[in-house]
Amino acid sequence: MNVLDFEKLVRNEKTAKHYVLTRCSMVAGLHCPNCSGDRLYEVENGKRRRCPRCGHTFNPFAGRYLNNVKLSASEWLWVVKLFELESSATVIASETGISYPTALKTIDTIRCAIAETRCLNGGAPGVFEARNRGGRLGAPNGNGASGDAEPVADDTVLYHLELGNDCLILTERSPEYGYLVCGERKIEVVDHGRSFPRLRVYCSAKGFWPFAKERFVKYHGIPLGKLPGYLEEMSFRWLNRGTPLFDLILERLCRYAPAGTFTKRARDEQLVH
Ligand SMILES: [Zn+2]
Repeated sequence: MNVLDFEKLVRNEKTAKHYVLTRCSMVAGLHCPNCSGDRLYEVENGKRRRCPRCGHTFNPFAGRYLNNVKLSASEWLWVVKLFELESSATVIASETGISYPTALKTIDTIRCAIAETRCLNGGAPGVFEARNRGGRLGAPNGNGASGDAEPVADDTVLYHLELGNDCLILTERSPEYGYLVCGERKIEVVDHGRSFPRLRVYCSAKGFWPFAKERFVKYHGIPLGKLPGYLEEMSFRWLNRGTPLFDLILERLCRYAPAGTFTKRARDEQLVH
């Protein structure tokens, strides 16, 4: 969506809300969060909905990712537009007038919506094997049989992301594997900790890591607990490169969030670098 079309959406709160509600209905129809009833009527001049079956009154965004931050519809659309354009939280806050902490929370919510539950669970467990350049890991002088490999301990892999047929694995800086084997494919070390001193990055996707890295370095450090969300955002941008992202992002935000999404999130403020 170009800025001329976007301008029409945010002409006033009514047009913005109409657009967001329409998108919500397209993604998942409105239903009562209390009893799942879908025969609802409007109250308070359309601000809220009431369920005649159980009497519950709720705002039409209840239960969706959008509802995690109390923004007006036009503020949400502006944030999504600026996020699409890769603006920082500082720019988003100053351009929309929302506070910086709210901008951060809004961006976190977008990343969670993009990643869905993967954002909360970190890397999905995978089965990896490690090999040094000569053969079996740890074999003297690297003379082990080339077919042997050792499994990688679960706590060594910090994050694992599947990108179509490709695979991105982050481990602590310390392991000195020559490469990993993931699904019988050899995954080379593509960043030996030069960009991110505390990480080793194994990746078979030649194009993805440079794409993600140039964006990561702008942040001057990413909390380790938030790294999965950043990586999911990068994979989303990578997989949809060349496609306008505005409606794709908004569609994710309009989905219903799994129960407990915003109350059990781990906070890990450890910096990557
Ligand atoms: Zn109900």
